[in-house]
This record gives sequence, C-alpha cells and structure tokens, in this order.
Amino acid sequence: MTTKKPFLFDLTLKELQEIITGWGQQKFRAVQVWNRAYRNLASSFDEMPDVPRKLREKLKEEMNFSHITPRVDLLSSDGWTRKILFDLEGTGQVETVLMGYDKRRTACISTQAGCGLGCTFCATGQGGLQRNITSGEIVEQAIFFNRALKKNDDKLTNLVFMGMGEPFANYKQVMKAVDTLTDPEGYAFGARRITISTVGIVPMIEKFTEENSQVNLAVSLHAATDKLRETMLPINKKYPIDELMKACRDYIAKTNRRVSFEWALIDGVNDTPEQAKELAGRLKGMLCHVNFIPLNPTKGFAGEESKLKRISAFRETLNRAGITNTLRVRRGIDINAGCGQLRQENTAKA
Ligand code: SAH
Ligand code: SF4
Repeated sequence: MTTKKPFLFDLTLKELQEIITGWGQQKFRAVQVWNRAYRNLASSFDEMPDVPRKLREKLKEEMNFSHITPRVDLLSSDGWTRKILFDLEGTGQVETVLMGYDKRRTACISTQAGCGLGCTFCATGQGGLQRNITSGEIVEQAIFFNRALKKNDDKLTNLVFMGMGEPFANYKQVMKAVDTLTDPEGYAFGARRITISTVGIVPMIEKFTEENSQVNLAVSLHAATDKLRETMLPINKKYPIDELMKACRDYIAKTNRRVSFEWALIDGVNDTPEQAKELAGRLKGMLCHVNFIPLNPTKGFAGEESKLKRISAFRETLNRAGITNTLRVRRGIDINAGCGQLRQENTAKA
C-alpha cells in the first residue's frame, strides 16, 4: 500500500506552502524547505539547518522525503556508467542510469515502473507494466544522482527520459516532473538539456506540440515501413508511420525545433539497404537527426547487433540524402545498462 502521506518531491511550491501554512507556519518556511531540497540537495529534512527543529520534526512525521531506495547499485568496469535499480515506495521498481563520459553527466531516468507497450527487443517491454509513477518519483531519480555528483563537486548536465516506461503514457506526471525540475526558483534545470523519448503515441505528440516546450523530443522509429515496424513495436498498429511522421512534421513546423529519431540497429532486420532507402525518403528535408545505437541484446529477443560494415552502408545512404546522424556507443554493457535489464535479472529476488 502506498502511504497517504504527501511526498515532498510530488509537490509544487504552492502545494508545499499550503501544507506548511496549514500547520500555522509562515509561508517563507516552505521556501526554505524548497531551497534546501532543490538548491542544496539535502538528503533528509534534518539537513535543513535554517528550518526550525520543531518544523523539521513535523515534516518528518507528516511528509515523506523519499520514495526511492536503491536495491542494486552497479558501476561499470570503465567507471563511467552507474546504474541503480530502485525499489519504489509501495510497489514497483525503476532503473536509472548515470553516464559520465566527456564533460556531460547524463541521467537516464524512468517514467513508469515497467512498460505496457511490449516492444519486442526491449527488456522493459518484455517485463510488462508494474505501475505509473508519480512526478516526485521521476524528480527524485534526478536529484538522487545529482546529490551523488555533488559530493565530487560535479553536477548533472543532461536528463533523458529514456529509462523504463513510455513518458507519453504517463503524460501528466511527466510534464509535472519537467515543471518541477525546471522551476527557476528551485532546481532550475535547463529545459533544453532535457530530452523526452516516445515510442510514438501520436495524440500525445500533438499535445506536447501545443505546450511549445523547450524540452527536446526524440521518437523511437527503428523501422521505416509499417510491415517491419509492426513486428517490433506493437503500438505501430494503432499509430502507423504516416500518422507518426505527420505529427513530427507538425511539431517541427509549429515549434521550429528539431526531432531526433532513435534507431536500434538489429542485424539483418532493420539495417538493410531497403530500410535505409525508405528511411532516407521519409526524412529527406526534415529538420531532424537520427541516433543509431547497436541493439543491446536482451533475454527475450533473439536479434543481434548489426555488423559495422552494415552500419556504415546504412549511414552512408542517409548522409547522401543530407540527413545528419550519429552512431552512439553502447555503454555499461557489463552492468546490464540497457533499461529494464536489471529488473529482468533481479525479479527473482523481487
Ligand atoms: N518508451 C520510450 C522511452 C524509453 S526506451 C521509447 O520507447 O522511446 C528508450 C530507448 O531505448 C528507445 O529508443 C527504445 O527503443 C530503446 N531501446 C529499448 N530496448 C533497446 C535495446 N535492447 N537495444 C537498444 N535500444 C533499445
Ligand atoms: Fe516501452 Fe519504450 Fe521499451 Fe517500447 S521501447 S517497451 S515503449 S520502454
């Protein structure tokens, strides 16, 4: 059972003020708590020295400070990738990954515990949906890793909503989390440094377009024909590629922002010259970028990562069509850093 107590990271500043003034306290006390949580990155109500002790005690009694508890905490052999499987308050688990190569410190955070959309190659999809998570449970993942970085005088520079779950299947909580994380009076994370990745839920892309948000949009395409995409991403039966591309074009026209397309390269499946040609045809002239990543092998899917020669030929077709693209390096393979994999490994213990 989820506890009825309010959870600090779920609250807006206004909601926190309402609770605290309801206890007969002055409004500015809420701002103190807010600043300690989001600016000083306190790890408990006790680490809020300017908040009077009596109020801290009341907060500890009446409010939850944390809803995520590390169950498994792994560091890759190169030391640059850390992955944590968190137990959530009540039920469910989420995985969060911190990648620290170059100057970037990117947290890959989850937006649902599991996912119900069943993409065949995805470990999260193979495990199904446990539950939607709250905005605070999304926010706390970022704060947790930033606290750890702060110990080394470092900080988070990028946030990608590419962990477990489909952000647009939990739209309200995800957008509330974005609002909290970017609040100029609080954590003040730059919206341009946040990326939301969607499998392509068309009405939600349309809704997101209306927000005119500075947050980046990534779309998991993975195949350029309905026939193939359907076999990999079941959601394609509901929202076929033509509709998806229309929503993307409308987004670009309305916001003047670029869309990133994600493409996990699977040997002999979606790395063929035919798929490359189809993709180039669909994307030509569009304000977009393609991110390729070799498939991360998972237990429930027989496919393998593409061979380098195939990848080069595929990319060359896009280059010739003037479509910018990047091949991402997989990180943290030794710690099952592909999302959903750690839960898969640990469900026996769950
Ligand atoms: N549900 C959202 C965001 C989470 S998945 C989405 O699907 O976009 C984040 C990205 O990881 C997606 O592009 C997804 O297709 C990709 N992905 C999932 N499993 C993968 C695997 N085994 N290898 C490579 N990429 C994978
Ligand atoms: Fe869900 Fe994204 Fe995995 Fe598909 S790829 S099952 S939408 S998390």
